[in-house]
Amino acid sequence: MYIATKVKIRVTLAQAAVLWHLSEKCRLLYNFALAERNQNYLENKDRPDKQHIGYVQQANALPELKKKYPEYKWVYSKVLQTTLKSLDDNFTSFLALRQHGDEDANPPGFKGKDHFCTLRYNQSGFKITDGKIRFSHFYNDIPLAFDLSSGQTFVNVKQVDLFYDDLKRAYYVSLIHEVQPEQEYRDNGLYQAFDLGVTKHVGVNSAGKFLEVGNARPDKYWNPKIDAVQSRRDHCKKKSRKWKRLNCAKRTMERKRSNQLKDFQHKVSRKLVRNTRANTILVGDLSVKQMPKSKQATPGLNRSTQNSGHLSRFIGFLTYKATLIGKSVIKIDERDTTKTCCVCGAVHDMPLWKRVMDCECGNCIDRDQNSAVNIMVRFLSQHALWTGYRQFAGNLRQTGPRIPETPGYSQEAPPLRVG
Ligand SMILES: [Zn+2]
Repeated sequence: MYIATKVKIRVTLAQAAVLWHLSEKCRLLYNFALAERNQNYLENKDRPDKQHIGYVQQANALPELKKKYPEYKWVYSKVLQTTLKSLDDNFTSFLALRQHGDEDANPPGFKGKDHFCTLRYNQSGFKITDGKIRFSHFYNDIPLAFDLSSGQTFVNVKQVDLFYDDLKRAYYVSLIHEVQPEQEYRDNGLYQAFDLGVTKHVGVNSAGKFLEVGNARPDKYWNPKIDAVQSRRDHCKKKSRKWKRLNCAKRTMERKRSNQLKDFQHKVSRKLVRNTRANTILVGDLSVKQMPKSKQATPGLNRSTQNSGHLSRFIGFLTYKATLIGKSVIKIDERDTTKTCCVCGAVHDMPLWKRVMDCECGNCIDRDQNSAVNIMVRFLSQHALWTGYRQFAGNLRQTGPRIPETPGYSQEAPPLRVG
């Protein structure tokens, strides 16, 4: 499997000048290509099938551009192509939003002159030997070679991104490279289901044991502080010195908020994956993107569901950490898992404030535990694992809800995706 590793690199002043020069060319290319696509979009707005300028056309025009402006030859041609590709990705998602009727969707923005445009090397243009990475351009006789001081060896590096972090004022490379799992995945007949949430994760395993992990909420700490700075900033003249200082403070706090959450997610996902005997881990498949867009969403809710974007990142962490140690994470369609009673299958209205499902059938269970049981049951019945199901039902009866020996109601859901 491939994973990404970020490594800080030391850059001399002369090298920095070269990097900025290269980035500047990419930035101009990006803006130029964006302008072209914007114009093309406006001209053919009502005929989406007539969008004749895309990545292929723009990439094919590169040789012509280099003839006209020879300075573009300094940039490795793959890097120019990936710059156009990243524009293409941004623009395509904008077009998709518009086509789905989102009139508020804006086209990608132009990159300002302080912006360091990430240099993306795909497959070629770099070499990694003896803990050093070398890029294949020489400009004014300055070699672009940097120590990868992490002491890690990287095999089968597929892609390298070189970028600048303007808050930390440092340069980084992010390498996508291959790692070998410790062992291959094998179904050992033990399963662990999780209902992932913003405030806590609740799990149930084949033995019918529940477990609960609370989430760190750095947003609770940071949000009021960020709001305060933002409101002070908005009272200043835009782009004035004071405005810039406050804006920088705001971004630093936002960065801290997101880093704290990320660190925490790394730790928790590692723990969850390592501490279970089950080789198969089941999680709900969240269709996050629709949540904040829904009409009923209030501003307050939007802010708390922003964390669900973080939840899909958390599933990503779980998945790769599991794969590395020979386990597997499977996403189960989690539609109605909170609303359905895990014992009788009756569907209840479960607004967020309702923490306990109290069903007419006598089942009274914590809302998240109910959801975790449903995820497990749904997985077992979708895979026709009837022995596993009976064992789970039997184990569960000793500790909690008395679910029937065979699923008495349909846990049918659309075909599952294996991730
Ligand atoms: Zn019930």
